[in-house]
Amino acid sequence: MTALERIYLWNILKGMMITFRHIFKKKATINYPEQKRSFSAVFRGLHILNRDEEGRERCTACGLCAVACPAEAITMEGAERLPTEEHLYREEKYAAKYEINMLRCIFCGLCEEACPKDAIYLSQTFAPANYSREGFIYKKDDLLIPHPKENPEAYMKALGERAAKTN
Ligand code: SF4
Ligand code: SF4
Repeated sequence: MTALERIYLWNILKGMMITFRHIFKKKATINYPEQKRSFSAVFRGLHILNRDEEGRERCTACGLCAVACPAEAITMEGAERLPTEEHLYREEKYAAKYEINMLRCIFCGLCEEACPKDAIYLSQTFAPANYSREGFIYKKDDLLIPHPKENPEAYMKALGERAAKTN
């Protein structure tokens, strides 16, 4: 080992040169959450439970999404629609309870493919971080898209580009 190597000066200078070279290169990182990367057109994120153009819930609690789910992340309970609830639910049966465990979900999109009612799709937003396991159990209220007539702006925002392309 030479005297120069012994005091590590050369290695320190080499390291500084690498750092200096990177100062002028385009940054690989972004200032999230102020800046956001654009996703691929086929990116599959957080689930949305869809409504029809009248604002009625599309899900009929048939359970096909839960059966198709390889991670067993979906649970639901069905209920019969009452005559006074026709403006709320499109089908005679609806999901009184619908939950997705995002810690299990692998965002494969099989639930979306299995659904015969166009009631569930994966949007281009992702599940936000949380400090508790319970926070990753998304309930029906968390998943249901805003009403298209009562809140059209929020509806369009939640619908996102991916749904607009696939609908
Ligand atoms: S995206 Fe895949 S893993 Fe996630 S709930 Fe749907 S079917 Fe299950
Ligand atoms: S989301 Fe679709 S597949 Fe799943 S229970 Fe509702 S209607 Fe059936």
